Amino acid sequence: PSLRREGFTSIPDVTWDDVGGLDSLRKEFERYIVRCIKRPEDCDEFGVSMQDGFLLFGPPGCGKTLIAKAMAHEAGANFIHIKGPELLNKYVGESESEVRKIFSRARTNSPCIIFFDEVDALATKRGKEGGWVVERLLNQLLIELDGAGQRKGVYVIGATNRIDVIDDAILRPGRFGKKHYVPLPGADERVSILKAHARSRPMSSAVDLDALARREECSNLTGADLALLVNEAAIAAMEEKWKLQANRTSSMSSSPHLIELTHFEQALS
Ligand code: ATP
Repeated sequence: PSLRREGFTSIPDVTWDDVGGLDSLRKEFERYIVRCIKRPEDCDEFGVSMQDGFLLFGPPGCGKTLIAKAMAHEAGANFIHIKGPELLNKYVGESESEVRKIFSRARTNSPCIIFFDEVDALATKRGKEGGWVVERLLNQLLIELDGAGQRKGVYVIGATNRIDVIDDAILRPGRFGKKHYVPLPGADERVSILKAHARSRPMSSAVDLDALARREECSNLTGADLALLVNEAAIAAMEEKWKLQANRTSSMSSSPHLIELTHFEQALS
């Protein structure tokens, strides 16, 4: 578990199969990052630079972190997860050198994806909320982002729920130039998110995830809510198994315990 510590460098174990929906973002990641990591010689031959960073924005819990990890996994790249506010608070006065260290660690471990979660904390419009600590940190971040030549094999992705407060300087091409909205899932996406989470669980074939995802109660759920729903249904099924085992007499058969629609009903209620 210590390997998964925030800020630590490792290849994530999340795969595309764990991500529901977000197909167009996945294609963009494949086009701009995965291919270049897998075939650097072709990018060199054609002088193709894919250093422009992605800024993912949209409501919380819709898969920004998840899809970035899945992309790193598919590319076989290391992943450094930095939380904006923690970087700011943990190292007051040292934030700039910490930014330098993050990029240097990424270069040492390239190919590497640096994921800046809640990047708005680091890159609020200058002169507005943050004060001088944020200002200096943002300047250092811009210096690192602009050092494109030395950023070979290092890709940056930022995520925010508040694109409105982000400093324009950081959104320029070559920095976080590719902006991508990650919305609340629609009905089809909800189906594939439920399926992604049900995939490795003992599901009863009687559970119709398609119909479940299209129910009124599910219409405003985020990916994180849907993950919670499947987990709560799994807990209900597990508790039922324990109850049956506790009451079981030796004459009872032990049929497999599956997650049924009733467990989803309990979870929804
Ligand atoms: P935040 O803005 O709060 O950081 P986020 O958009 O980065 O949110 P994630 O951290 O990726 O959201 O999602 C939280 C959890 O919700 C994931 O670990 C996953 O279990 C589930 N989840 C969210 N979106 C999806 C999705 N599209 N497919 C499958 N699971 C999802």
